[in-house]
Amino acid sequence: MNYRRFLTATSLARTCSPIRALGETGTDKLVKAPKSVISLAAGSPNPRMFPFKTAIITMEDGTTIQFGEEIMKRALQYSQTAGIPELLSWLKQLQVKLHNPPTVHYPPSQGQMDICVTIGSQDGLCKVFEMIVNPGDNILLNEPTYGGTLQVLKPLGCNIISVASDEHGMVPDSLREILSKWKPEDSKNPKKNTPKFLYTIPNGNNPTGNSLTSDRKKEIYELARIYDFLIIEDDPYYFLQFNKSWAPTFLSMDVDGRVIRADSFSKVLSSGLRVGFLTGPRPLIQRVVLHTEVSALHPSTFNQLMVSQLLHQWGQEGFLVHVHRVIDFYRSQRDAALAAADRWLSGLAEWHIPTAGMFLWIKIKGISDVRELIEEKAIKKEILLLPGNGFYNNSSAPSPYVRVSFSSASPEQMDVAFKILAQLIKESL
Ligand code: PMP
Repeated sequence: MNYRRFLTATSLARTCSPIRALGETGTDKLVKAPKSVISLAAGSPNPRMFPFKTAIITMEDGTTIQFGEEIMKRALQYSQTAGIPELLSWLKQLQVKLHNPPTVHYPPSQGQMDICVTIGSQDGLCKVFEMIVNPGDNILLNEPTYGGTLQVLKPLGCNIISVASDEHGMVPDSLREILSKWKPEDSKNPKKNTPKFLYTIPNGNNPTGNSLTSDRKKEIYELARIYDFLIIEDDPYYFLQFNKSWAPTFLSMDVDGRVIRADSFSKVLSSGLRVGFLTGPRPLIQRVVLHTEVSALHPSTFNQLMVSQLLHQWGQEGFLVHVHRVIDFYRSQRDAALAAADRWLSGLAEWHIPTAGMFLWIKIKGISDVRELIEEKAIKKEILLLPGNGFYNNSSAPSPYVRVSFSSASPEQMDVAFKILAQLIKESL
């Protein structure tokens, strides 16, 4: 793959800080320096001057994560830009177990799988988009899509091409049709402006709750090979898949090194810790790391150590046991939302059964734009829902859709909310 052709001039111009390369902030050289070395190089503050000494974090099952004095000193100190080594190695093993991408065994320059920790997956996605998008670039996604992605992409000035989707996610035939205006060899000619990447939320799409089938993923990957574009696989609901067998990911089929995958611990460990990770070809991941070097230096050491200690304590198996407990909870929440929707909204609205995630995407019949209904009438009745408009590139266009999150409300509350929504719809017709 010729990765350079995907990069913006800004991204290409990024270089490694000579100070960090020397280990200024406690990175490799300093950490590994023998005790006999007198370091006058480090610009890191002296941890003896930090007020925090130790911490004990108690888990739900009564076990603890202990931060003794030594580990606390590390937790409070600067660390490696790409992430702390023990977390990175745990994550690498996880990705190999779950996705086993062919690129694990490739040479570094040819797209070898690499990982970096990000400040939530949002931070990784934002940096990936900023690494690739120049004003006027064509990019592909399926609307409606995650508002946080549109918020990054729109100011970058790219031309968003929307691919049609249904209850199984993006429709490959629609993608093929869009791409047919180019020839495969056009990707070698920058003037042809072939799409640089396709962005997708393959599981439990926010806002639709839809998931891409395995066959569709294969077709889309083949089109990516023919027209030589990257695939950005934004998969924060991967660990919230309700069906027993999880569909293979784009990363798992990535023979070329063209997939950048964003993972998140936000739905299964904590959203506030802000720990996510990117997996993709080394030449691209390293560009993101260079960006982090100037934007944040590194993700929080304390938060990474907290997650890493837990994951090492649990092991892969323990982590997956936890994930399945979380899935059971969200599945029963989904079922409660569906039962309430069936009870109150039948005949008034339409929806598909989400197979992952935490959203139900409801189309209200007979109302072409739900904004007034949701933003004025529903709020007066003390129910909060999101109108669909914000999930489209053109957010001022009318939308008959409402996004319902079933993550936090109790089954009884969902029932009450849908009863009120049904009354409001009837009054508005
Ligand atoms: N992508 C999608 C599709 C999301 O729904 C979200 C969060 N709601 C994110 C990315 C960002 O998640 P994180 O907390 O990992 O930054």
